Amino acid sequence: MKAAHGMVVSMHYTLTDDRGATLDSSHGNEPFHYLHGHSNIIPGLEKALEGAEAGFKSKVTVSPANGYGEKNPEAIFEAPREHFPAEMKLEVGARVYADGPNGPITLTVVTLTEKGAVLDANHPLAEKTLHFDIEITGVRSATREELEHGHVHGAGGHSH
Ligand code: ZN
Repeated sequence: MKAAHGMVVSMHYTLTDDRGATLDSSHGNEPFHYLHGHSNIIPGLEKALEGAEAGFKSKVTVSPANGYGEKNPEAIFEAPREHFPAEMKLEVGARVYADGPNGPITLTVVTLTEKGAVLDANHPLAEKTLHFDIEITGVRSATREELEHGHVHGAGGHSH
């Protein structure tokens, strides 16, 4: 079976940045599953996997435009100390969780300031060229329920 619209694709992957540092990997875990053609994964990767079958191995480079986009400068802003939990230790690189208009968001502390800290709400992988090392472990037809929901159910997917 080939990866195409409405197919569930399973794969192992390692994601590295331009310097070869590993950012994420499925190795050591269950393979990652996604529903092809439903924007479950970034466009550059989905396009590269079109037509792939089990056993397919590939190195895929995805530009920011086909990945997590460029950084939005408006998503970088200063927040005063009193907006953070009192017990929180503010330090560069710390993650802050907040409620955004479309659900929970993660912000990263960029710099500390006199008032508090500068936060970045952009996706941590925004602006990065992504290098995937992919191995497709399986391709199957999605169930009707998965197609209606637009995501994969069962092991490694949604359970509800
Ligand atoms: Zn569902």
